[in-house]
Amino acid sequence: MTDWVLRGGLVLKHAKHTPEPLDIYIKAGRIEQMGPPGLAVPAQTKVFEAGGYLIHPGLVNAHTHGHGAVTKGLADRWNLEQLILAGSITNQERALDLLQLNAQLNAAEMLLKGCTAAFDLYAQLPVPSAEGLEAVAAGYEQSGLRVVLAPMFADQNLYQALPDLALAVGEQPTAPLAYDAVLQNIKPVLTRSYQRVQWALGPAIPLVSSDAFLADCSQLARELGILIHTHVLESPIQKRAYPQRYAGGLLQHLDRIGVLGAHWVLAHCVWLDQNDLALVAKHQAKIVHNPGSNLRLGSGIADMRDMLRHGITVGVGTDGSTSSDNQNMYEAMRLAALVSRVKTEQVDQWISAEDAFYAATEGSAACLGLKDQIGRLESGFKADLVLIDLAHINWQPLNHALRQLVYAEDATAVRHVMVDGTWVVQNQQLLRLNLVELKQKAEQARQVLQLRSQLETPAMQQFFDTVAQFCACQADHPG
Ligand SMILES: [Zn+2]
Repeated sequence: MTDWVLRGGLVLKHAKHTPEPLDIYIKAGRIEQMGPPGLAVPAQTKVFEAGGYLIHPGLVNAHTHGHGAVTKGLADRWNLEQLILAGSITNQERALDLLQLNAQLNAAEMLLKGCTAAFDLYAQLPVPSAEGLEAVAAGYEQSGLRVVLAPMFADQNLYQALPDLALAVGEQPTAPLAYDAVLQNIKPVLTRSYQRVQWALGPAIPLVSSDAFLADCSQLARELGILIHTHVLESPIQKRAYPQRYAGGLLQHLDRIGVLGAHWVLAHCVWLDQNDLALVAKHQAKIVHNPGSNLRLGSGIADMRDMLRHGITVGVGTDGSTSSDNQNMYEAMRLAALVSRVKTEQVDQWISAEDAFYAATEGSAACLGLKDQIGRLESGFKADLVLIDLAHINWQPLNHALRQLVYAEDATAVRHVMVDGTWVVQNQQLLRLNLVELKQKAEQARQVLQLRSQLETPAMQQFFDTVAQFCACQADHPG
């Protein structure tokens, strides 16, 4: 492994740091030392002239879905329930090479846009397989992105959870999934080690999960020492359905059945009340805020300030491309700051640039279980970093590096990216993935899958209309 010294860049170590010109000496993938320009380093160290660049810790996407990479722009106005029910089309059974292609497309976009690590809840239909997980992990490993990868599935579906919806669309509820065999099948893979891929478990949504399934996932996660990541109180329908199903609502129920803990990562949390937040805080579970996805699907706006007030660790995510189309963490960070402005008129309670940058770096790192490893530029931390071209129009003039990163940067000034002390992007080109080849494969996949024409039939349109009416009707008649 090559040791590097990045000389003369303007370095933003973390959200509270005032940027300053520093040399960064990187040894065996970690930051060994930082100091004023001219830092003495061993003779064999390779030199990278970083003058003219702002160097910041790589952004960390705490919630994405690699399986969605080929689905950008497939739908216009759809909500979460329509998206989930379209899953049998958008995420239909796929060959191993297509599972891998999705992961690599997802990784390519994140790396080119200054994201160096991600938590991916990857769904494979009909159920996750050992071979499928290996194909996805190998795809990510090759890309150079750091990934916590969780097979995402559940033992029920939306029709079992919402029988009235099944009636409305004329669907017959099916038997719950025999999930035990699936867990047994994938368990050996979840102990396999990779250089940059770690494992987690992703029970998709508690609404479509039995207590036994959640308890067994939680137990397996504890046994393997891995994290567990799920979607919590994301849409208005979920807000209404949980109290009907569980006395006191979802969080009280999870608390009651004894599964919650510090190994839980909860995505969205749009509709949590004060009691729910207190329970999340009590169990030291983490929350991932996905403002872009929540806006795109009309799910609502999560109150990040309230989460922070309860002392909860909050990360930021893009969500998958089926729900938010792009994998741009600069956009996600900007939205995290902006949507807080409509939650309160108290200006001092809005999410600041510092809050948003912290959440998208150190907060997300904690959600990946990598606190004290990534998310800051400090001695001992992994050398996961981004070089922003300060000659780019986004930086004319440079008034305030942190604020411009959050409010002005859109990933177009990202020039070089390093993960684990190795270059993965140089001069806006991927070094470990062949983008030309990826683009050809993505186009071939589009031609084979024909997702758009499958979604745009009159029958599907009618189906989507019925689901939309059901959701709106539920909104009119809260339970
Ligand atoms: Zn999600």
